Amino acid sequence: MDYFPVFFNLSGQRVLIVGGGEVALRKVVLLERCGAEIRVVAPRIVPELLQRAASGTLTASLREFSPKDLDESRLVIVATSRRATNRWIANLCEARAIPVNVVDDKNASRFIVPAIIDRDPVLVAISTGGASPVLARRLRERLEALIPKRFGELASWLRELRHAAGERLKGSAARRRFFETLVDGAAARRFIAGDRRGAERIAQQLLATSSTAAPAAGEVVLVGAGPGDPELLTLKGLRALQDADVILYDRLVSSGVLDLARRDATRLCVGKSSGAAGATQTQINELMIAHAAQGRRVVRLKGGDPFIFGRGGEELQALERAGIPYSVVPGITAAAGVAAYAGIPLTHRDHAHSVSFVTGHADENGEQPDWRSLAAAAQTAVFYMGLARIEDIVERLIAHGAPATRPAAVIAQGTSDAQRVITATLGTLLAACAAAELESPALLVVGDVVALQPQLAWFNVAAPDGLSRTA
Ligand code: SAH
Repeated sequence: MDYFPVFFNLSGQRVLIVGGGEVALRKVVLLERCGAEIRVVAPRIVPELLQRAASGTLTASLREFSPKDLDESRLVIVATSRRATNRWIANLCEARAIPVNVVDDKNASRFIVPAIIDRDPVLVAISTGGASPVLARRLRERLEALIPKRFGELASWLRELRHAAGERLKGSAARRRFFETLVDGAAARRFIAGDRRGAERIAQQLLATSSTAAPAAGEVVLVGAGPGDPELLTLKGLRALQDADVILYDRLVSSGVLDLARRDATRLCVGKSSGAAGATQTQINELMIAHAAQGRRVVRLKGGDPFIFGRGGEELQALERAGIPYSVVPGITAAAGVAAYAGIPLTHRDHAHSVSFVTGHADENGEQPDWRSLAAAAQTAVFYMGLARIEDIVERLIAHGAPATRPAAVIAQGTSDAQRVITATLGTLLAACAAAELESPALLVVGDVVALQPQLAWFNVAAPDGLSRTA
């Protein structure tokens, strides 16, 4: 990051503007709204600025800049049409550690001014660090359309309610919940639609009932985090993460997904990656139940989908026995996500009419999958947790009738930037994997659809030399 984002309180602070043209005027209009004490220095000044000087909203000096003008300035904006002058003034500011912006000269500026979306008191600032003004403008247009016009008024109204909420609701958790209910529900909708009285009525009712009600019961939301790429999280999963008090996550969950969670949520890694030590299932169940019983919103976050080799069912049974309310947000399971990013369609009208998800871990009581059907033609078999036992899997498939020429792939760290895809046949797979030194997690896909991979790969494929490679 090249810039540290801040919002600067300039109320009553002296801001010097060197230059008196249209650009200076635009800055003045914003600075006025912040209550800054504005001084403009320039030999010539546009009429709008002169009017302001006459009415006393700013001080104007109709002359060249002099270094003494910097005295007591909190902030300086330089907007003369002469580049050398601008740079000279910028250097003077630097020497005196006064933050300076030279309009349209990023290199001479200590700070830059972002594009803004103004819903006072809500202010969204956008910067591309000077990389692409067009991109900044597009983003601003999108956000403009997304944020209702009355958003600022809504924020002011919520600020007014803080006092009443502080008096009536004891405890920060109760207050947070009250405001979340307002913001997420009918109150905010009414307000945005223009029905302030309706919104007020809902808020008062809610305040009256929340203050007498017992503390809210906790709950557990079982959330599937998807296979790695954070953008594969569902909207509902994102929402649960942003509402969570406590997050219990597996080692398989990517850090990019965790970054999307509410900042002050407690995060506990209960890391069970394949075979490695971590909390036991009983300990995890106990943790979930203990936190929820104290009224917290617990998110149990699992890689992929919670119900596919994720022990989600067992955890729900434990919650059920303990009488804790729960819900489940599905996730993109590794087979679906990883195959998509590898360019392997799991079914295809010409190559596979069904797909099986199989665990590579032998069942505790020694039960085996139906190898004969997994080895059959015209279907795809996806093995989870199979890397350690890949030799055994290949051997059994061949022993049950799969030809050694059947295409097979191993995909490691799928959907992430580190994704690697090894394609081979059952006969050559072991040697190919040994040479590749893959890192877990990895998925094994067996079936004729794998032959389509070289043709359909699209993700993380090296780009041909082209445009973006220029200097
Ligand atoms: N519930 C999870 C699966 C948990 S079992 C889901 O629905 O995806 C863990 C196994 O999933 C790993 O051993 C590996 O085989 C597979 N896996 C998970 N994420 C993966 C990824 N990003 N790339 C490749 N395989 C992955």
